[in-house]
Amino acid sequence: MNAPQSTTPIKLDHWIGGAAVAPAGSNYFDDLNPLDDSVYARAADGNAADVERAVQAAAQAFPAFRKLLAKDREALLQKAAALLERDRQEFIDILIDEVGSPVMKAGFEVQFAIGMLRAAAGVPRRITGQTLPSDSADRWSLSLREPLGVIAGITPFNVPMIKVIKQSAMALACGNTFVNLPSEHAPRLSLRVAQLYHEAGFPAGSFNVVLGNGAVIGDALTGHPLVKSVTFTGSSVVGRHIAEICAKQLKKFTLELGGKSPLIVMDDADLAGAVRAAAMGTFFYQGQACMASSRILVQRGIFERFSQALAGAAAGLKGGDLRDPGTTLGPIISGRQRSRVKTHIEDAAAKGARVLAGGSFTGFQCAPTVLTDVTPAMTLFYEETFGPVTSLYPFDTLEEALAMANDTPYGLSAAIYTSNINSALQAASGIHTGMVHINAPSLYDEPHVPFGGVGQSGVGREGTDCDLDAMTEWKWVTIQLPTDAPGHH
Ligand code: NAD
Repeated sequence: MNAPQSTTPIKLDHWIGGAAVAPAGSNYFDDLNPLDDSVYARAADGNAADVERAVQAAAQAFPAFRKLLAKDREALLQKAAALLERDRQEFIDILIDEVGSPVMKAGFEVQFAIGMLRAAAGVPRRITGQTLPSDSADRWSLSLREPLGVIAGITPFNVPMIKVIKQSAMALACGNTFVNLPSEHAPRLSLRVAQLYHEAGFPAGSFNVVLGNGAVIGDALTGHPLVKSVTFTGSSVVGRHIAEICAKQLKKFTLELGGKSPLIVMDDADLAGAVRAAAMGTFFYQGQACMASSRILVQRGIFERFSQALAGAAAGLKGGDLRDPGTTLGPIISGRQRSRVKTHIEDAAAKGARVLAGGSFTGFQCAPTVLTDVTPAMTLFYEETFGPVTSLYPFDTLEEALAMANDTPYGLSAAIYTSNINSALQAASGIHTGMVHINAPSLYDEPHVPFGGVGQSGVGREGTDCDLDAMTEWKWVTIQLPTDAPGHH
């Protein structure tokens, strides 16, 4: 019912220099609809020659693109936002059929992307520097921000629309040109974004998409000498590998990686609100979310009540037609991810975890799973599952909860539910994460906030102001006035 209508899958080529470009090696790979693994599209299986072409196109476009006036970049981004509003449904359809998004999640992604484009449109006119006092007499001293050149953006499968727009809109707003390598599960979405920018009037070569297997062609992109900065969203393993390549070449990078985000529920919390936040924070897009509340720490006095309520909420979530607004659950993206989720659940159950809800698969869909009695001997205690699976842990004091929350190599997001302001603020300052939400789910984002994590969750932050720092370089300019200049005194 959600499968694409056509029996001949659409063919996807790279988008380079403002045009569709066939892969140099003439090979294509299957882009599958995760609902049933039917072939949704056949996508260019790029090689190093394709990457070279894309980077060269971006590099050639850069000198003219950086000279566009601020008002012109503002207008281009505003136009892109308007076109995305116009074509909202088309993007929603791709997000449903290409990566198995329930319609509510797909709509949220598109709305976020519109907001991000608008926020980025407000940036070009405020790319300012400073006039500074100088230690030398009669010397003017100025700081200017300059674009970097070609920026490479590597995007994941789970929120491909949010991420490709988040990475590229600010890069373009700052006068850089961009090469996107999308997840092999979401090539069509990125190509549709390329069309959007093209129709909005972005010059050829300013936004390029190279398709293929990141594990095969990623290094050719991130290690290309003309790529001045890499912005990556994905797993910590790949992020570390990219950081090594960038470090060797002394180039900038921003890494948005995985998480094992805690949600703390104190016994004075609004219980119904906390259960709703736990269910949303854990099961949004089948738990394939970096900020998912995969560890829920509950004060002992309400542990049983909360566990039963969350297990009930989990059991009540609906799978089914992804285009039905009542559907919360879709399929797990790929065979690799399905077996990872299964292995994590089976390993926990075999080692003594109690399954309060879910725990099994129907086809490619995993039932929302709530576990308790989870110990460090179980793989999912520390590792990111990236599926609809959470673990409940009881605690007695807030101090204990904070120590448990911080017992992770990750540090992306966290949340606490409490009606005590002191507990809330102690948690906000005591949790080692990039983001903390009080009486709200751990899963939340806005275009202009400093979004990102610490530890294995990443390096750097995304968001309009943070991107301004990440995507421009300071230049210091001084002007020595002649001491006999007219007006000198
Ligand atoms: P992944 O790391 O497997 O892949 C991400 C991207 O990296 C893909 O485009 C892939 O092709 C590419 N890639 C693979 N090897 C590469 C290499 N050597 N060089 C360059 N690129 C390479 O991640 P995924 O499965 O697509 O996404 C899930 C992960 O992303 C989870 O860990 C999740 O937590 C994380 N994530 C983080 C955020 C965040 O903002 N912090 C947001 C969404 C997802």
